[in-house]
Amino acid sequence: MALELQKLESGYGRLKVLFGVSLKVEKGSITALLGPNGAGKTTTLLTVVGVVRPWSGRVLYQGVDVTATPPHKKVEMGIALVPEGRRLFPEMTVEENLLMGAYVKRARDKAHDTMEWVFSLFPRLKERRRQKAGTMSGGEQQMLAIARALMSRPQVLLIDEPSAGLAPKVVSDLFQVVKTLKGEVSVLLVEQNVAAALEVSDYAYVLENGHVVKEGPPEQLVADEHVKKAYLGI
Ligand code: ATP
Repeated sequence: MALELQKLESGYGRLKVLFGVSLKVEKGSITALLGPNGAGKTTTLLTVVGVVRPWSGRVLYQGVDVTATPPHKKVEMGIALVPEGRRLFPEMTVEENLLMGAYVKRARDKAHDTMEWVFSLFPRLKERRRQKAGTMSGGEQQMLAIARALMSRPQVLLIDEPSAGLAPKVVSDLFQVVKTLKGEVSVLLVEQNVAAALEVSDYAYVLENGHVVKEGPPEQLVADEHVKKAYLGI
């Protein structure tokens, strides 16, 4: 198993947000974590990377307990986060942003080869390599955010709400690229756009109020009455 969360509880100050979240990301798979605004999806990712401290429960990475491992060490171990809102360096070029993603020891020496690899995944970024990140379209910026995380040569990639603010066509193009990562990287994809995420995922979890309320392969979830009503508008 690439990543496993066992009964994770966490929150902010005295506010509890996650009430025993358990989920698994199989090696080479795309696993989706779906749910409405405020359900705790971002908090789950932040707890996995250790920016938010887990109150109880465990995080296992390739079978190793990393619950208490600090965030920078987790990046060195191969866990990368594409944060909500992209967090690019807008005044820096595409290439400079990518190089920032490769500063970690595990990736530094291979930065050149890795950049060729991410350019093959995102040819648009290659064309725009000398353009300032802040001048690109939303879809291109999201591609860059994912590409920058890939520059650290992760084995597990956590992507937070990549569809936010993007037009449907752009979302579908972006998710097609995410799909090509299958087999190379294990992905945990957080999304409010349930329909789009179910199209590319191998397995999905639905989080509501800090609890996993449904899980299953996409075919099962699209046929589920609650999922249809609450998330697919059917
Ligand atoms: P969204 O799509 O809006 O990001 P989400 O499912 O990712 O939704 P979280 O961002 O994890 O939800 O938020 C879960 C709860 O935690 C919300 O009630 C939110 O107000 C609260 N919360 C998030 N960040 C903080 C923080 N830094 N301090 C206090 N409360 C927070």
